[in-house]
Amino acid sequence: MRYVTFERDGRRSWGVVLDDRVLDLPALAARVGRGPLPDDLLGFVQAGDEAASTARAVIEASRSRLLEVGVPLAAVRLLAPIPRPPKNVICIGLNYEDHAAEGGHPRPEAPVYFTKAANNVIGPEAPVVADHRVTQKLDWEVELAVVVGRGGRFIPAERALDHVFGYTVLNDISARDLQRGRGQWFLGKSLATGCPIGPWIVDKEEVPDPHALEIALRVNGVTKQHANTRLMIFSVGYIIQDLSAVFPLEPGDIIATGTPAGVGFARKPPEFLQPGDLVEAEIERIGVLRNPVVAPSE
Ligand code: ZN
Repeated sequence: MRYVTFERDGRRSWGVVLDDRVLDLPALAARVGRGPLPDDLLGFVQAGDEAASTARAVIEASRSRLLEVGVPLAAVRLLAPIPRPPKNVICIGLNYEDHAAEGGHPRPEAPVYFTKAANNVIGPEAPVVADHRVTQKLDWEVELAVVVGRGGRFIPAERALDHVFGYTVLNDISARDLQRGRGQWFLGKSLATGCPIGPWIVDKEEVPDPHALEIALRVNGVTKQHANTRLMIFSVGYIIQDLSAVFPLEPGDIIATGTPAGVGFARKPPEFLQPGDLVEAEIERIGVLRNPVVAPSE
């Protein structure tokens, strides 16, 4: 199932996409006398099993009447599935050996973590602002993002996927000139508009193995990154175990699992994003996250 957050006629809601029709689940639940369902997708993820079974019942009741009860996907504006995560977006750096190597780093012995400020999340088709007052070195990083379902602490790796709601695509937009020489990565990773996520969350039932997915990124149609998530150094399970040993993971937390080789700064000559560019991040079984790059409007 593909879960979306969307806007239509100035109203925000959430639901699922079936055969290019969007089902507004809270509205449909009210209509068929089930529910209520939470007002937003984060609330749904937080609500757990009971809300999930309500949603399943509403979807089943709607399946034979999609044309009647669904809205064409093209008639809504998709937003980031979780526009404001409950905490900073948790990221793992250097989780593909070829990407570590292209940046001159050895293969890490333990995961390297950093975060991206949660208020910079944007959705599919939303513009990434290349603000030359702030950075001259705006870069891309396609990543598989894990959306936490059930939270918890001390989650063992072998049970970690039970705590996953689903997966989405994240472009870890990075200002390389702010990332270097500052003793930390937070600044260069927390640009306004620097965290595109989407276009939807695919639930884990549709991604039985998160470590067997083709992953790619194109700029203006030219492939810059292309790898497979089996090449991750630290698995999703290991990362969840490692993080949850230190602090509780919460429903709706987003964990970006690192990027493969092919980022702009390591290319010869280096390449950076400019206004007018179009970036497409794609992961098998999930979809394409597309964002234009624009100049600041002020
Ligand atoms: Zn990254």
